[in-house]
Amino acid sequence: MFATLSDRLADTFKNLRGKGRLSEADIDATAREIRIALLEADVALPVVKEFVGAVKERARSEEVSGALNPAQQIIKIVHEELVTILGGETRRLRYAKSGPTVIMLAGLQGAGKTTLAAKLALWLKDQDKTPMLVAADLQRPNAVQQLQVNGERVGVPVFAPEPGNAQGVEHGGDPVDVARRSIEEAKRKLHDVVIIDTAGRLGVDAELMKQAADIRDAVQPDEVLFVVDAMIGQDAVTTAQAFLDGVGYDGVVLTKLDGDARGGAALSIRSITGKPVMFASSGEKMTDFDLFHPDRMASRILD
Ligand code: GDP
Repeated sequence: MFATLSDRLADTFKNLRGKGRLSEADIDATAREIRIALLEADVALPVVKEFVGAVKERARSEEVSGALNPAQQIIKIVHEELVTILGGETRRLRYAKSGPTVIMLAGLQGAGKTTLAAKLALWLKDQDKTPMLVAADLQRPNAVQQLQVNGERVGVPVFAPEPGNAQGVEHGGDPVDVARRSIEEAKRKLHDVVIIDTAGRLGVDAELMKQAADIRDAVQPDEVLFVVDAMIGQDAVTTAQAFLDGVGYDGVVLTKLDGDARGGAALSIRSITGKPVMFASSGEKMTDFDLFHPDRMASRILD
């Protein structure tokens, strides 16, 4: 991800090398090229406009520091503005003051929620937490089993409804009831974090939103995380907005950052939704997962 954007920006900065001072025309030309690079990377238009406007303004008005040449000065500005649109500070998980911390995952089917649930559980385990996974996706055939398999891979127990007590849903059981009972179970078994995997659909629909909102209301999560596939480009931003309106969430998890999509979703989502990207998932391995660090991501783009 970001390979084309990185190359594009590098070319733009190359054109400034050796210049003693940037003219108005140099700044305009650079701003134009940054604009094209971002649009080609599929960054949402309002975000591109704001970004380019800020870079231009600062390039014009800021004193060039003695230690930097004009090209380096522009790179520094672009880096700082990238950090800003990526959310600034790293947003860390907020743990409950007492009782288990409840994390609820929401997102479309295929976003990588079930995989992410296990990755997050492993990450928490590595921080000396004792997480429990909850299978509240009772819609998709095999979702419960998939979570159980993933839970086993990372050595984290999975709370799931008993199969066979069918109430017209795939696996049997009511996802709201499963979620509610899981909190009791976590308290009994002294798990300090509960990760609830909820059902996704192929597209946004009212029933999906209602079910997620019902689970949210029933368990009052400390964090609702919206999980989204970064490979789906501008659709990621549209979906993020729909979930924000329909369910609401505290933070975003970007998955499949290892893909070769153009990366625009990662750059747009914070500005468009106002919600921080908290975690990034970047591969099929359970360890391909970490907190999202805006400064590191900006450095990677400008590397
Ligand atoms: P869910 O429907 O949202 O629960 O999605 P899944 O967890 O089943 O993931 C859908 C597919 O995406 C699976 O084939 C996963 O292996 C794959 N996947 C999930 N996360 C990543 C990731 O970060 N990178 C890559 N390359 N594939 C991923």
